[in-house]
Amino acid sequence: MPISNTMAKAINAQVGREFGAHFQYLEIASHFHDDGLPQMGAFFDQQAAEEHEHAMRFLQYVRDSGAKVAIPAIPAPKAAYKSSKEAVALALKWEQEVTAHINDLVDLAIKENDHATRVMLNWFVTEQVEELDTMGELLQIVERAGEPNMLLVEEHVRRKAAAEFGAGN
Ligand code: MG
Repeated sequence: MPISNTMAKAINAQVGREFGAHFQYLEIASHFHDDGLPQMGAFFDQQAAEEHEHAMRFLQYVRDSGAKVAIPAIPAPKAAYKSSKEAVALALKWEQEVTAHINDLVDLAIKENDHATRVMLNWFVTEQVEELDTMGELLQIVERAGEPNMLLVEEHVRRKAAAEFGAGN
């Protein structure tokens, strides 16, 4: 069943935001790689890859629904950060905004009695709980360590990534 024009427009806008997050995280990853913090860099490279997957998941849904894919202009990401904290705080702000937009999409799906889209969005609702938790925790740890102790954060991120890899994630 095709989705409404309103829904197609709203999902296409979300495709743009997910690609925007992809670019933003690549910039943040590059900041950390340049700053001698390769574990943080690798973490944000991984986040960037996930955002790309999110964009593709929405894009594929637009295709599957018989609507037209229309990727909007993607604003340039912020490319300079004064501190690690500023970069991670920006990532958390992004996730909070994305969560709000996904909730708006769910509201629209409910309003339109669009059950297929609502069910598709469930995955993202759950995913955003995890993204907010991960980024909020990282910001807390970066704040607790402070800029001179970012190597401690590197070790934390490395151990966490190793544990997740070990758990088969
Ligand atoms: Mg995303």
